Formats: sequence, structure tokens, C-alpha cells
Amino acid sequence: MPEIIENFYGENLYTFTNPTCSCKEDVIYEAPDAEPHRTFKMYPEDNTARFAYKAKKGLVRLNPNGTAEQENILGTFIGLSTAPRKKIEQFLGDNGFLFPLTPREYNPIDVDALIAIVNRLKDTVDLMSAIASNKKDYAVIINLALKITLADTISIQISDTQYTSCSHRLTHLLSRAGQIDMSRENKLHAQAGGQFFPVEDSIINGIYQFNINEYNEIMYDHDTYGNNDLRWAITDLFVNYNGTPDERSMLDLIFHFLHDGENGIVYHDRTKAAALSFAQYTIGEEINHHLTGIHPEYNAETMEPTWKVDSLMGALYFSLFYLRSKTELYRPCGNPKCNNYFLVKSTSSKTKYCCTRCANNMTQSRYRQRKQADK
Ligand SMILES: [Zn+2]
Repeated sequence: MPEIIENFYGENLYTFTNPTCSCKEDVIYEAPDAEPHRTFKMYPEDNTARFAYKAKKGLVRLNPNGTAEQENILGTFIGLSTAPRKKIEQFLGDNGFLFPLTPREYNPIDVDALIAIVNRLKDTVDLMSAIASNKKDYAVIINLALKITLADTISIQISDTQYTSCSHRLTHLLSRAGQIDMSRENKLHAQAGGQFFPVEDSIINGIYQFNINEYNEIMYDHDTYGNNDLRWAITDLFVNYNGTPDERSMLDLIFHFLHDGENGIVYHDRTKAAALSFAQYTIGEEINHHLTGIHPEYNAETMEPTWKVDSLMGALYFSLFYLRSKTELYRPCGNPKCNNYFLVKSTSSKTKYCCTRCANNMTQSRYRQRKQADK
């Protein structure tokens, strides 16, 4: 065993191996006027990619001697969201798939499902960065948290793995809309004397006077609101659902965000606190959902604690688990031709590019532009 392995776990918080694969896009035309069905077909190879999580560097792929062969695996992965499909093929080829593949056969994965997985992780990273930012944009934070919690369920079956994306507390709450005891609505009707519902509201920290005509319009007059289900469900829950203080804070926040509009809602301290707790809860749900295949393990050889990670997907989310989210964040590279995100100190406003190559490319292209302008 090479010497460097001896202190391996001291500098790497966890490691993980994955078979690399040969990956090709397959396009099947099913009907002349229909969109073709695109899949990536992955054939596992005998080679193994070895990964480690290094403090301040994040998830990296290692050379056999333990040095980094490719840095920034998470930032490259979420960059695939907008990358050409050739780059996705290459990523899967070099790093292997997110879950174990069946050996000695082509494993197909739907391109759209894979992109949906990439986007979900990218949105989670973006939300963590939005929270870590010194200049927080609360509309961005609430919109991202809503986007993640309300996204369509992703479901894939690959080899023995059945993967289903995280289902959020908000989704469960929304599914109760329309089934709640409406006695509250009726009671409020009586109290209000026909004009306003007095609704206890944690965002305004008092009683919100909800115009009954407006309520009825949202709840019962679907022609007016074009059957806007989210607004309908949130309004029903806002008026009729008791809930825990946490649930109420989330519902009251989203109600005002939709009802007053993202520019109309007042971002005072209570709104900000509710937005942050909604966002943090959403991030926690996403990360925890993907850590179920990770277990602590004691390495008898090195006598060091370590983690057993069961999939590349787990390894990617585990790297968010270790992200020091108050001081570090992932930022998209400033080179428009590069899709990567990169890890940076949240206080650093100078670092704009993922690597020196991107920085040099941009310096050169600015130089060419200036020369062009001088002509
Ligand atoms: Zn770059």
C-alpha cells in the first residue's frame, strides 16, 4: 500500500469509489411530429474513480497517489444544468453514475430526469448561497425555496436503486387544502359580520383583516383566478388551518408573498426571519433526504473514524452537509462560456472565475474587445 494512504483519512473527511463508465447519448424517434426520447446509456467499466472530500476544496476526484485529479466535482456537476450534452457524457464517463449500475450491460437514464436531478441540487446550492450572502435578497430566497419544494417529483429506477426525490413538509400541507374542516371559515364569517375575516397572522404579528369577497373569489370563483391551485391552497390553509407555529410561519409567509406580491410584501424582521427559516428547513429536508445511505464506519487499519458513502449522489449531497454555509458558498463562474460553479469564501467579492484558465480567457477576450473598439 502506498505510504500516502496511511494519513489518508486525516485530511479527507470521507472517501468514495465509483466505477467509471462509457456513456453515449441515445436518441429514439417514436413519431414523426413528436419530440424524440433522449437517454444516456452507461456501460460500467473496470476502472474506478476515487473521490475524497477535502476541507476548503470540497469533493475532488483523486489520482492513484492521493492527489487531486479533478477538483470541484460538485461545482462541475451543478454546472451541467446548462452544459452541452457532450459535457454531461464526459462527466458521467469520468466519474461514473450517481447510483450503482448493473455490470456488463448498458444502463439507460432519461436525459430529462438527469437534468431535473442536476437542477434540484443546483437550486439547493443557489439557495444556500443566497442565505450566506451579505446582501440577502429575500424575494430570491423565497422564490428558490418555493421552486425546490414545489418541483415535480423525480423518480428513476436504475439497477437495484429506486430513487425518488425529496417530498417536502409544504407539499404535505398543500395536499390537505380543500379537506380541512371549514368550521373556522364559518365561525370567522359570524365574527366578521360579513366583511372581513380576522385571521391570526404571524407575519404582521396580529390580526389580518381578510376581505371576504376577495377570499370567496380566490376560493370559489376559479374563472377569475384561472384555477391557480397554489394560491387557492395557500389561501385555504391560511384561513382554515391551525397548524404548529412553524407551519403557520411558513403558510403566513407564502400567503403574503403570493397575495401582496414579491414586491408588495414588506420585508421587515418577521418576514425575513420566516423566509430564512423556510429556506433553511427546505435545505435541511433536501440534504437529509440524500444522507440515508451514509453510515459512520471505523477504519481498523488506520484507527480513524470515517464514513461509508453508498453512491455518488450521496457523496454530492454529503459535500453540502460539510459546507460551512456561513463562510463558504458556491458561485457561478463569470466566464459565460463556462458552466461551472466554484467554492469561494462568502466574504470574497474579488474571485469571479472558477479557475486560472477561465480568468485568463476573460482577460484575453476583454483585451481583444478593447483592441476591436480602438480600430
Ligand atoms: Zn470557469
